[in-house]
Amino acid sequence: MIIAIDGPAASGKGTLARNLARHFGLPHLDTGLLYRATARALIDAGRALSGKEAAIAAARGLALAGFDEKLLRGREMAEAASIVAAIPEVRAALADTQRAFARRPGGAVLDGRDIGTVICPEACPKIFVSASVDVRVTRRALELQAQGEKADYAAVLEEILRRDERDKNRTTAPLLPAKDAIVLDTTTLDAEAAFKSALAIVMGSAARNAAGASSGRG
Ligand code: C5P
Repeated sequence: MIIAIDGPAASGKGTLARNLARHFGLPHLDTGLLYRATARALIDAGRALSGKEAAIAAARGLALAGFDEKLLRGREMAEAASIVAAIPEVRAALADTQRAFARRPGGAVLDGRDIGTVICPEACPKIFVSASVDVRVTRRALELQAQGEKADYAAVLEEILRRDERDKNRTTAPLLPAKDAIVLDTTTLDAEAAFKSALAIVMGSAARNAAGASSGRG
């Protein structure tokens, strides 16, 4: 089973993906880390984030193991990741790694922006996690403060809107729900409630698949 979780920043998709992976005993890939690590490699090498050739080489040079999440999670890296993620060749360079992860025997849970639309169109179920901007900003500000960063509402709002805009309007793999994705709005849900709703979606889709398979056999 491949579970695809997509959605905008601070929608709750990362926590949800981790919880689903733990519940089903599946490996989990937070694909945002790939874009963050690509951006980090460029910054560390003193290269411009918009430099296509260097960005492609950085993406190709990534190893899945050994990401230092502490260096990648900050707000500066979120912004930098969305800049390199708009380069089509960077996305292409990272696609095979994501697909190989998804298609391992037994399946996997992947979260990102284009898992259901581009990376794993065959994933089932596809969940598109959304939440109001206000709730997303509040969540992200609290998360950043917990990491020791100074984060006031207005600044985080501006960052999230800018990133949404870039992610939704890029030419390749823009952020949008797949046609067959189920939208899960977490605006009024805490992590536990979001997990329960997602579990119902996964079980429902597994039951539909099983019914489809058995009627196909009969
Ligand atoms: O999910 P996260 O906030 O870590 O993602 C950082 C940035 O990486 C996003 O704003 C987006 O631009 C990019 N990204 C992407 N496709 C993915 C995952 C992340 O474009 N599958």
